Amino acid sequence: MSTNTLSPVSGRLFVGGEWLSAREDFASKSPANLAEVVGTFPKATPKEVDAAVASARSAFPAWRRTSRILRAECFDRLAQLIKRDTDALAVLMARECGKNITECRAEVVEGLHMVQYVFGTGRQGIYGEVIASEIAEKDAFVRRKPWGVVAVITPWNFPFAVPLWMLGPSLLEGNTCVFKPSEDTPAIGQKLVELFAEAGFPAGTVNLVQGAGETGEALVKNPDVNVVCFTGSYEVGKRIQEISASMPERIVAAEMGGKNAVIVCEDARFDLAVNAGILSAFKTTGQRCVSASRIIVHEALMDRYAKAFAETAKRLKFGDPLDAKNFAGPLIHENAAKKVLDYNALAKKEGAKVLVEGSEIQPVAGAKGCFLSPFVYQMDGKGARVLREEVFGPHVALVPFKTDEDAVRIYNDTEYGLSLAVITESYRRMRFFREECEYGMGYVNLPCIGAEVHLPFGGVKKSGNGHPSAAGLIEAVTHKTAWTVNHGTDIKMAQGLTTALEGGPA
Ligand code: NAD
Repeated sequence: MSTNTLSPVSGRLFVGGEWLSAREDFASKSPANLAEVVGTFPKATPKEVDAAVASARSAFPAWRRTSRILRAECFDRLAQLIKRDTDALAVLMARECGKNITECRAEVVEGLHMVQYVFGTGRQGIYGEVIASEIAEKDAFVRRKPWGVVAVITPWNFPFAVPLWMLGPSLLEGNTCVFKPSEDTPAIGQKLVELFAEAGFPAGTVNLVQGAGETGEALVKNPDVNVVCFTGSYEVGKRIQEISASMPERIVAAEMGGKNAVIVCEDARFDLAVNAGILSAFKTTGQRCVSASRIIVHEALMDRYAKAFAETAKRLKFGDPLDAKNFAGPLIHENAAKKVLDYNALAKKEGAKVLVEGSEIQPVAGAKGCFLSPFVYQMDGKGARVLREEVFGPHVALVPFKTDEDAVRIYNDTEYGLSLAVITESYRRMRFFREECEYGMGYVNLPCIGAEVHLPFGGVKKSGNGHPSAAGLIEAVTHKTAWTVNHGTDIKMAQGLTTALEGGPA
């Protein structure tokens, strides 16, 4: 299929269960073919953002009073709709964000899994606990309650699954939401909200506002938002936390960037190690938060590894996202491509030995897109900026190490701490890295990419503030309450506290 076959999406905001009339404030263009307009969208004004928050607020009491199981059942209907539309969603996503159709399909399936997980969780016990009291006649309950209104602000690179990681647990627990997708993927954001509406979620439980940072900031500044669930860059996450610092009662769950790595030990299975490195570096054109821009390789293996890695990188096909035979697609926009080229230049300045030169390419006949070929280089791990900062593109350093302690030092020498892979046959080494490296997600004999919704997804340092997404998000979107019930006929207090109303014998 060519990238140019579908008519543009006419974008609208969704507030209080109503689709507002369409406006054409900004266009979403396909990064594989900048001439292709995927859709035109309204930029929500601050007044519209406030209206969306107000509508979420007014829908909250009835939604939180709805049985948790009935709330979960709305997700069963949503799952059926996602199954019905999987192919169309994947095509729209491929056109809008440039990821290869095979990856887009996998992402829709990941979103579906989140929805299925939420549906199943409705009948499970993580809602609360019953625990003993010091007084035999008392039962003590720990019950989770929703906070209220949750703002969901998401990045372009997982425009379907990441919103569901946040909307799913938030809504299941009885919160209502205002969703702001990335300005680079408004069409897939709108499509997702259309499915929520079709699945019968009550008016006001899910609201949609569109726009860039300004719209996101208007949402964050609204004091009636109880929780902000944010996934995106560190810089924006920091800004959101700075604004929210004036509202100490607010929860901010921020999942941010990464500077991830694969550590290849000298006992590694060689082919597995090369494949793990290639997939980690170049899947999604290096634009995953967990993409590796460092492969830390034992010096005894380095020459052989560098040769095989460079040869494989040169063979990868970057091209039309709708052609499943391609390995990956373009960068998200021209600025993103320019940023990667700037980092390629910086690497050379910082002493890189270039193994594969990265440059602009135009693989789609008759179309101008934001494509780059992979850039691969070798460099010692001595604190160069390119070894410490997130690049977010097909740019990877092979860094040699001598001892396992060296590898840990190189891995940790960045302000991020998101994902790590270790390629080894030794359980002792695997454990050493597991204990000494700073990360949120670790993988052994695997690439450092990939997620499953029943696991927490998050990082440490500049990668995350301790509220992982997907299954982990329940902690951020609920607060725990203690509820103690006395089954006795008189009052007995813990700690031997006296209940006498008048003075008695000492
Ligand atoms: P981004 O930070 O530029 O934008 C993310 C979202 O924040 C967008 O919706 C954007 O409009 C909004 N935004 C921008 N300025 C804002 C402001 N001042 N106030 C409120 N909202 C604002 O990120 P991106 O380019 O869309 O995505 C790439 C980044 O996301 C990378 O750094 C990547 O590592 C990170 N990411 C992290 C994870 C994770 O789980 N840790 C997952 C995916 C992506």
